[in-house]
Amino acid sequence: MSKPVLSVIGETQLELGSGEEQAFGNWRLRRDAGGIAWALLDCNGSSTNTLSEAVLTDLSKLLDALESLMPELLVLRSAKPGGFAAGADISEFRDAGDQEAAAQRLRQGHAVIDRLEGLSCPTIAVVHGYALGGGFELALACDQRIAVDGAWFGFPEVKLGLHPGLGGTFRLSELIDPTEAMTLMLTGKSAHTKKAKSLGIIDEVTEERHVDAAVRARLGKKKSRDSRGLKAAVFDLGPARKLAANRMRTQTEDQAPQRHYPAPHALIDLWESHGGDRDGMQKAEILSFSKLLMTDTARNLIRVFFLREALKKKASGASGIDRVHVVGAGTMGAEIAAWCAIKGLRVTLSDLKLTALAKAIKEAGRIARDAHLSDLEIRDALDRLMPDPKQYGLADADLIIEAAPEKIDLKRDLLSSIEARARKDAIIATNTSSLELEGLASVMKTPGRFAGLHFFNPVAKLELVEVVSQPKTTKKTLSRLNAFIGAVNRSPAPVRSYPGFSVNRVLTPYLLEAGMMVDEGMDPFAIDRVAERFGMLMGPLEVADRVGLDVCLDVADTLRDALDKPIPGVPGWMRKRVESGRLGRKSGEGIYVWKDGKPDKKKDESKPSLPDDVRDRLILSMLNAAVECLRKDVVSDADTLDAAMIFATGFAPFRGGPIQYARQRGKEDIVKALEEMASRHGPRFAPDAGWADLA
Ligand code: NAD
Repeated sequence: MSKPVLSVIGETQLELGSGEEQAFGNWRLRRDAGGIAWALLDCNGSSTNTLSEAVLTDLSKLLDALESLMPELLVLRSAKPGGFAAGADISEFRDAGDQEAAAQRLRQGHAVIDRLEGLSCPTIAVVHGYALGGGFELALACDQRIAVDGAWFGFPEVKLGLHPGLGGTFRLSELIDPTEAMTLMLTGKSAHTKKAKSLGIIDEVTEERHVDAAVRARLGKKKSRDSRGLKAAVFDLGPARKLAANRMRTQTEDQAPQRHYPAPHALIDLWESHGGDRDGMQKAEILSFSKLLMTDTARNLIRVFFLREALKKKASGASGIDRVHVVGAGTMGAEIAAWCAIKGLRVTLSDLKLTALAKAIKEAGRIARDAHLSDLEIRDALDRLMPDPKQYGLADADLIIEAAPEKIDLKRDLLSSIEARARKDAIIATNTSSLELEGLASVMKTPGRFAGLHFFNPVAKLELVEVVSQPKTTKKTLSRLNAFIGAVNRSPAPVRSYPGFSVNRVLTPYLLEAGMMVDEGMDPFAIDRVAERFGMLMGPLEVADRVGLDVCLDVADTLRDALDKPIPGVPGWMRKRVESGRLGRKSGEGIYVWKDGKPDKKKDESKPSLPDDVRDRLILSMLNAAVECLRKDVVSDADTLDAAMIFATGFAPFRGGPIQYARQRGKEDIVKALEEMASRHGPRFAPDAGWADLA
């Protein structure tokens, strides 16, 4: 049988037999004997595929080659083991130029994707791992999608202050129920295989070993693009769209107010005005995307994306940590142990109370299910997690994490007994949230291997971990711990030992200031609303209830004793509530009454309206402490501090973090506001000396 002629480039006729490949920059094209062409995306020099301008230009060249000799079927796949494609190359958003330049680049990208969609042969995207953003848009331009079980599909663009920009807005809402499509785009949440199948995003789910057969079975079958459901047709009608759009606006405003997050609102406008009109929607998508790219929100959120990348880079290298022993199976120990087991490590977990261990194992099952692990993966993760009341695992562990209650004497005793039983080369870490490590290291014979690993609650949701050094911690210990944090898919923020480290040093005055306002007779609900309207993930009083009022008190007392400057006082009512067992969410009542894990928040109409300086009292308390952390080198740079506050506490991401907000508002204005508040409310607001040096 003669070899199929694949393409003609210049004077050279290329003949590719089965398995032979032709390179098109970031793509490789292989044509097999069955008439199927396989286009493999394999981005140069990266472990992940992203849809850069170069990838689209190369795809255009590949399409040129295909058009000269059309295969019977074209399959798009990723050559990377990790997944199909992670989305656009975000660095190109950062360097997009002005709005017209951005729109022009988008038009070029659309032209290539349109060409793919318009090919006369059937096309199939085979997706393993993730197909996000631009990667999902590429898959949507194919006639069919086959998912390898475990694949994810989604449009995370709203997290960057944007919406899909390469045709996703209309292709997804043409393919599936438009309201479901809008929900995916508005929330930025990804659909896992099963959900993607039920939504109609994918045509078939298969195992990797059956991909070839699944593709061949579809040879010769071109799916009609007109097979849209009844629901899609209903929303072709303007009034139906208007009604649905209004509902979406109300829900979206609640989660992402337009003044802070314009992108989801722009997306709703786009769909309401042009849904069902492909050409209109395409033009409007390009215009809207290029406009959003110029907003402060998108710029700050894109900056946050790079802050995360920078933290992840700190986590490179091998940790040499396979076995972890966690001491203390309470709120934090249980979550840390479960998370490490889910991420493939062998974990032993000890506690004085057997009931705590039993609860921890049950909790691990829930965390694994929430992380969308398959039944098999959950079973394997739970097999790796061993309750170990007699602490047999301690002597074998590469890393021991102490997560016992926040009492210095208890921790000192525990750490010295851990050290006596641990392997000589094991690392010993504490999850203390505020105690200075020097006071703990002093009981150890080998303090070089001792550091803090400050995970945040809930571990599975909050990606930041402060890696805390004390003067004797060795560089090797720190680099192994950073790598360990990377290996469990979290982001390390290196900080030095200091009361509260960076995050709790900055957050505590915010929580206590809100507590003082309650003491002054203000309505808790109204105080929290002020912070939420600023853009905080949740208000300070809700945070305090979630963390636990007892934990907040411990941290506040530690900070007050250890810092050389005043912090807000602990309100009397807070101590009384802790003494009476009203600890917050975990006891069912604190500042709020909690039902099913949610606070029952209601405005108290009998309370007077809030004074004008509430917002500054809350936010500038944090900023002043943030500047102190920089001045005292608790954290090496402003970017790390901004990232830590966003990823650990939900500090308004669209403002780019506390220091970025300070820069954008202007430090002179902030210092003036602090001075005025110091004269009104007391010396805790005196501007920190670090403001003078803030760049
Ligand atoms: P917790 O009270 O929920 O759990 C502590 C566990 O340690 C309990 O199960 C207790 O039985 C066990 N324990 C007590 N003495 C022990 C001993 N000698 N040996 C073994 N186990 C023992 O406390 P938590 O909230 O999980 O906090 C643990 C640590 O993590 C503290 O240092 C705290 O400051 C820190 N932390 C807490 C949070 C949070 O939100 N709760 C967040 C970050 C860090």
